Amino acid sequence: MDDLERRERLCAWFAAGHRDLPWRRTRDPWAVWVSEIMLQQTRAASVVPYYHRFLARFPTPAALAAAPIDDLLALWAGLGYYARARNLHRAAGEVVARHGGRVPDDPEAFGALTGVGPYTAGAVLSIAFGRPAPVLDGNVERVLTRWAREGGDPKRPPLRDALWARARSLADGPTPGTLNQALMELGATICTPRTPSCLLCPVVEGCAARAAGDPEAYPRKVARAERPVERYVALLAGPPDGVWLVRRPDTGLLAGLWELPMVEAGPALEATAAAAGFTVDPAGERRGVTHAFTHRIWQVDVVRATGEPSSEHFPTARLVPHDGLADAALTGPALKALHAWAVAGAPQRRGAGRAR
Ligand code: SF4
Repeated sequence: MDDLERRERLCAWFAAGHRDLPWRRTRDPWAVWVSEIMLQQTRAASVVPYYHRFLARFPTPAALAAAPIDDLLALWAGLGYYARARNLHRAAGEVVARHGGRVPDDPEAFGALTGVGPYTAGAVLSIAFGRPAPVLDGNVERVLTRWAREGGDPKRPPLRDALWARARSLADGPTPGTLNQALMELGATICTPRTPSCLLCPVVEGCAARAAGDPEAYPRKVARAERPVERYVALLAGPPDGVWLVRRPDTGLLAGLWELPMVEAGPALEATAAAAGFTVDPAGERRGVTHAFTHRIWQVDVVRATGEPSSEHFPTARLVPHDGLADAALTGPALKALHAWAVAGAPQRRGAGRAR
């Protein structure tokens, strides 16, 4: 099966009945861009309510650029991977400053915006502007490696470069936006990591892995380095209708988000907590939560405490009423900690994962 036939079959299959997702009904480059950023590392079903709220509040790059970052972080709370939000905020400012508020359709200009990598550039340029730009995300990677039974590491050269070249040649046709969305949709719904539904696949005849009976062997699983585990104790304190939160520093991990006051775990918890302004019962109940970041894992024991955060340890501390928790830009671990103790007013946690 040649590329022309693959393209035609994929586009026809996509046109015949793709999932009806709100960003599929628009070619507004700002809306497409926002959806693509939100969909990174997050499931489509989780993104839908955020997408609507975001565009209602920030319908243009100029609206976002004019808003304080804290407004955006609060709206993003629960979606995770906050660097995406910060980069989008910065990029909106660049669109206003450099392009008069209009999302540029020039690949070089668009690719130069903060947070726009090759994937985002390909998706927005092809879907919103009809440019023949390729996309390669985890879903497309899976489809392409299966077609040709490519056994290398798809995250590194030479296979990574070969896959980009393959995606580029596929997108080089009459409807690149539809083709790219069809490829991603195929990976998300049919060519799934486990038990792909090959009988429903529009390009089954051209698939080497299907012919060999081993699609699940692709892409090759590559062992990544083990992540270090860091242990903390989070202190849940406050009056009956509120909780003390502290703001993380403006740079680094979870920058600018709010969390429970935390101290490092260790044998001298009572003394460590006291130095931070709190009293804890060392024999009191601990409820553990685990949070996996890309490069580390946090294991956090959440304990009840009394007292108030010392201004020296926690200069950014703020007493937040339970009914204000939904508007606070909370870290993922803080959200889990609040749920571990069933704190009233804690916002819902959103499912996150690689599937679009
Ligand atoms: S035939 Fe199966 S393995 Fe091959 S692309 Fe289609 S769904 Fe994926």
